[in-house]
Order: sequence, then C-alpha cells, then structure tokens
Amino acid sequence: MQTLPFLQENIDITALSGYKTRAFARYYFEVRDRDDVEKLSEIFLFASENSLPFLILGGGKNCLFAFHTYPGVIVKNMLNQWEYDIDTHMLRTDSDAEIWQIAETLENKYDAPIWHRFIGLPGSIGGAIYGNAGCFGLETGGNFSSAEVLDLESGEILTLSKEDMHFWYRNSFIKETRSTRKFFIISARFDLGKVVEKYPSDADVRFFRDTKQPKWNTCGSFFQNPSPDNTAGFLIESVWLRGFHLGTASFSDVHANFLMSETDGKWQNLIELITLAQERVRREHGIELIPEVQIIQA
Ligand SMILES: Cc1cc2nc3c(=O)[nH]c(=O)nc-3n(C[C@H](O)[C@H](O)[C@H](O)COP(=O)(O)OP(=O)(O)OC[C@H]3O[C@@H](n4cnc5c(N)ncnc54)[C@H](O)[C@@H]3O)c2cc1C
Repeated sequence: MQTLPFLQENIDITALSGYKTRAFARYYFEVRDRDDVEKLSEIFLFASENSLPFLILGGGKNCLFAFHTYPGVIVKNMLNQWEYDIDTHMLRTDSDAEIWQIAETLENKYDAPIWHRFIGLPGSIGGAIYGNAGCFGLETGGNFSSAEVLDLESGEILTLSKEDMHFWYRNSFIKETRSTRKFFIISARFDLGKVVEKYPSDADVRFFRDTKQPKWNTCGSFFQNPSPDNTAGFLIESVWLRGFHLGTASFSDVHANFLMSETDGKWQNLIELITLAQERVRREHGIELIPEVQIIQA
C-alpha cells in the first residue's frame, strides 16, 4: 500500500483517551494549522481507498479505545486558538480549544460568567459540538451561531448554522450522520450575549465537580440514563456494582455510573465490566443500558 508522506506510523496514543489504556495507531496525523486542514481530505481518501477506519480525536474524553492497535488513521486535532469580542459578545474559537478553559477565562479575564456552568466540563469545542455536551441546564448548542466544517469526502468547507446543526439531547447533525458522512469541525462562533438554558441552575459547579465526580482515568458517565427516574447510576448501584472492581476496571464508589480504569489498565477489563453491568441490569430490571461513551473498536 502506497502511504502518504505526512502520515506517521505506529504511534503511541495511550494518552489520547480518557481511560489511558495502552494503545497505538497504525497511521497518525496531527492537525496544527490551516495547511494541515487542507491535507485532511487526501488522508480521508487514502483511508477510504484502503478500507481503513478513520477517527478524529479532540480531548478523547468520550472515547474508549477497545483495541491494542487501531488499524486505520487517527487524526488528532490541535487547533486551539480563540478570541472573545467583549463589545459584540461573540466568541470565535478553533475546535480543539477546551470548553472549560474558555468558560473560566471568560469569567476571570472578561468578567463574562455566561458559561460559568461549563467550568469543569472536560473536552474540546469540537467534541462538545459533536455530542451537544451540556450540564446544569446549559448545552453547547444553546449559544451556538455557526461552525466552519470540512466535508472530508468532497473537500468542501461549509458554514453550518444552528438550524443546520440540528442539536438535540447529546446529539447533532455531525453525530447523526457519522455513518454516511464525515465532517471535520474546524472552528465555531458562539453568541454569548445572553444565557440560553434548558432550565435555570445556581449549582456550585466547582464544588460539584470536586466532590461528586471522581477524576483521573475516566470518560465521565458511561451509560445514558434510561429515564430521569431510572438513572444509570441508580441501576448500577441496584445490581451491586457501585465501587465494584473487575481487574483494572471499576465503577466508582463516588458516582456509580463513572467507569474508571487504573494506571496501565486493560481495555478488556473495561469491556468485561460494561457487559457485566448490562447483563445484570437486563436480568434484574429488563432495561438495556446504552453507552454514552463511544467504544472504538479495531
Ligand atoms: C470527569 C468527566 C465529566 C464529564 N461530564 C460531562 C458532563 O457534565 N456533560 C457532558 O455532556 N459530558 C461530560 N463528559 C464527557 C465529555 O466531557 C464530553 O463528551 C466532551 O464533549 C468530549 O469532548 P472531547 O473533545 O474529549 O471529544 P472526543 O472524545 O475527542 O470525541 C468525541 C466525538 O467527537 C468527535 N469529534 C471531536 N472533535 C471533532 C472535530 N473537530 N470534528 C469532528 N468531530 C469531532 C470525535 O470523532 C468523537 O466521535 C465528562 C467527561 C469526564 C471525563
């Protein structure tokens, strides 16, 4: 197979997923500037022609690597510049800027606490748009104005509006169409003139993140909540898996729906524990637990 000169091979990507399980990429590319963005369609074509899987990574805080070596191309986004116009309240940000870091700086430097509730929300703007990440009544789609997006197949750069993006609960047009179309989110604009919320909240977000959520090797809540009355955390606890360890994997005793991995943990243990929780909840409650975190398979 004729490879591309700018693709790196057999790169260690252990640090790029929230669980930090040991993993490698057969092909790897970092997007550092606009010239790199222009190479992405060629890389995508290379992957398609050689039947190789293709994955874009932001912060990796929503991806479980269920493999030792990813057989295709991992594209790691590194575009992370952003600016805020204090007069127009417009935020323009590259897609790999971290949403919590923007929220904190808006508050501390610009006295603009409009994204206060996003303080402590891990991951990049691109990942947050993809899954319409949210917490405490705010969602990424709320203040979203537009995004500059590369259609990887055609090489065309599109500007997608809020309507085009079709945000709903933890979902967007980009996520919805992932099996048929592939897009790379380059940058986005947000109108931060006023709070756009699903519901009001004056939660102490720093206290909540510090005391009610475990840190380190995790991607946060693993399963979707089947309903507000039957949360995944409640169901996991009800089948005696809160704080349960299986090899190097565990469900946290601080928050039962937080799947955790030890340092040098094995992805196989994570999958075994996920399967065990699904089987027990299905048997005891007749409910199918569906992962919120993406399980990336080889
Ligand atoms: C401790 C902890 C707490 C959390 N709490 C919350 C919470 O309160 N609310 C919540 O919603 N989530 C929460 N999460 C999950 C996580 O923060 C979000 O899912 C976040 O948006 C993931 O961003 P990321 O950059 O890490 O995405 P990644 O894991 O890198 O990617 C996720 C998906 O987005 C795609 N993607 C990423 N960047 C781009 C791009 N530029 N173009 C196209 N596609 C792209 C990827 O291909 C992948 O399919 C938590 C996670 C942790 C670890």
